[in-house]
Amino acid sequence: MSCSCSYDPIDDYPDVWDVTTPKARVEHVCCECGVTIAKGEFYQRIKSLYDGYWMTHITCSPCAEIRPVFCSNVEQLRDKVTDAVRDNYVPWAALGELSKPAREKVCGWIEERWEGMEDV
Ligand SMILES: [Zn+2]
Repeated sequence: MSCSCSYDPIDDYPDVWDVTTPKARVEHVCCECGVTIAKGEFYQRIKSLYDGYWMTHITCSPCAEIRPVFCSNVEQLRDKVTDAVRDNYVPWAALGELSKPAREKVCGWIEERWEGMEDV
């Protein structure tokens, strides 16, 4: 899957960026959607060095799949999805290539966004 967004590399890239997909030995919480990643499930672990500080972000498999579609940094995925809905720029073709759990997660966030718009 390719990414065609423009991205300012000056401030936002960490010095070290290591992505692995380990199997959970203990429960984790996804940094994007807050779901519990059960022991035995695969998840995405991003270890990064940014301005001299090490950070680790744990992401569930569906969110890890969704992130490149929306060119999102960590902990911004849900906002990126709802911004895309607001701006009428949802990458529908790329969403169609996601797994069913990932598509359902995106659709849930879009549905919540629409429900929020009704309240305004
Ligand atoms: Zn998640």
